[in-house]
Amino acid sequence: MSQANTKLNAFPVFMRVDGEAVAIVGNGEEALAKARLLAQSSAVLRIVADNASGGLLDFIASVGAVHINAAYKAVHLQGAALVFAASGDEALDRRVAEDARRLGIPVNAVDRPDLCDFFTPALVNRAPVAIAIGTDGAGPVLAQMLRGRIDRMLSPSLGRLAALAASFRAAAERLPKGNRRRRFWSDFFAGAPAKAIEAGDLAEAHGAALDLLAQDAPVEGHIALVGAGPGAEDLLTLRAHRLLMDADAIVYDALVPEAIVAMGRRDAERLPVGKRKGCHSKSQEEINALLIELGRAGKRVVRLKSGDPLVFGRAGEEMAALREAGIAYEVVPGVTAAFAAAADFELPLTLRGVSSSMVFTTGHDLKGNSLPDWAKLAISGATVAVYMGRSVAAEVAGRLIEAGLSPDTAVAVVENASLAGRRRFHGTLADLPSLEARADLTGPVMTIIGDAVAGANFEQSEPLAAHRHGGAASAVAEGVEQ
Ligand code: SAH
Repeated sequence: MSQANTKLNAFPVFMRVDGEAVAIVGNGEEALAKARLLAQSSAVLRIVADNASGGLLDFIASVGAVHINAAYKAVHLQGAALVFAASGDEALDRRVAEDARRLGIPVNAVDRPDLCDFFTPALVNRAPVAIAIGTDGAGPVLAQMLRGRIDRMLSPSLGRLAALAASFRAAAERLPKGNRRRRFWSDFFAGAPAKAIEAGDLAEAHGAALDLLAQDAPVEGHIALVGAGPGAEDLLTLRAHRLLMDADAIVYDALVPEAIVAMGRRDAERLPVGKRKGCHSKSQEEINALLIELGRAGKRVVRLKSGDPLVFGRAGEEMAALREAGIAYEVVPGVTAAFAAAADFELPLTLRGVSSSMVFTTGHDLKGNSLPDWAKLAISGATVAVYMGRSVAAEVAGRLIEAGLSPDTAVAVVENASLAGRRRFHGTLADLPSLEARADLTGPVMTIIGDAVAGANFEQSEPLAAHRHGGAASAVAEGVEQ
């Protein structure tokens, strides 16, 4: 997309119309549609229509609009804040537009963009909150579709909440600027006042807001250990999204996509702690210390980890450190890479009569002499998901085969699961060692082994076997998080 395409041809503004006249010229459907839209405001509607249709007459009566029952003249526009040419007659609309312009009044002509000074948006009305959607040339169908979606996202009581907020504005201005004031508003909009409004209890909401104002205990820090999912932005949970929008600080690992970090509150501190190209990663102790420091400073922290925070994410150590330090925390699950990889392959992780258990492992514990427990589970039919397994692929395959798992056992491999650039490979346990030699796999890689894998869809995947004799293992680092 070129730079020019990212610029808006029409810039949205909200125009004050309370008590002002808005003139609409026209006597049929178009005029009625505009009158309906404008009647959502507290403007005084002035409708210039001789021969008004029955529908328009009814509407004029029902909203108490001013009706000028005469053939249009420029003087009818006098003193209006906005003018709408909605006659359906091109010549008349053009006259109205020219008259309005001469009088210095912004004008909109229905279905004649070339005559318009401004466009009317599709409107989500939660007065005093308004969301206006403009699509310029893309058309009203898109605008209405978006309006419907946004409308469903917003509580019907949002307007009442906003009105209550307006009445608390002056009091909130007296709170110390920064953390304390922001905390008041975020508790106001997400806490007890919002819940009371939702339940229809205005008095309770008012009381809850007063309580929030009076709270002068030092603000307590809170850490949320949040799963960012496997990579695709829309696999983030709604809860994770809400916490991100509320966070004072976001501490994130290397595999967490920038786009998800960017969903955070605009002025949140962003603290990368994982290995990225050219950046030094922090040790686990340093990360623990950082979380404690932020918590003690009263910050709301989102500790973002890829996938699920409790799966190979070292959350155990972070939780222990926070408990020890007496800092409140919570855990928000995420979609772990194994689930994303299985979805990309349409791979049933449990399959009736084939596999009824599943193992999450790294393969990095295969180095010793004794076979770890999970290998025994694999042999008895469990589906095995191997995290960080690229550099130990040969070891994993060799040990499992040695222990008695058939070399023909099905294997599925996904690089960059859930992302647009994902790549899928399939084969057997005997093919698995070839993974190590593939220098082209630079993204995180998930390997799934087991008979249930045979139930996957391999239409979009390449055979691993093509690379079976791919040469010596390369030293390219894999997307290891820890
Ligand atoms: N907590 C994370 C795992 C972190 S360990 C989770 O629940 O998913 C890092 C490993 O996860 C990577 O080496 C890789 O094996 C796997 N992984 C993470 N994201 C992945 C992705 N999009 N595609 C494939 N594997 C991924």
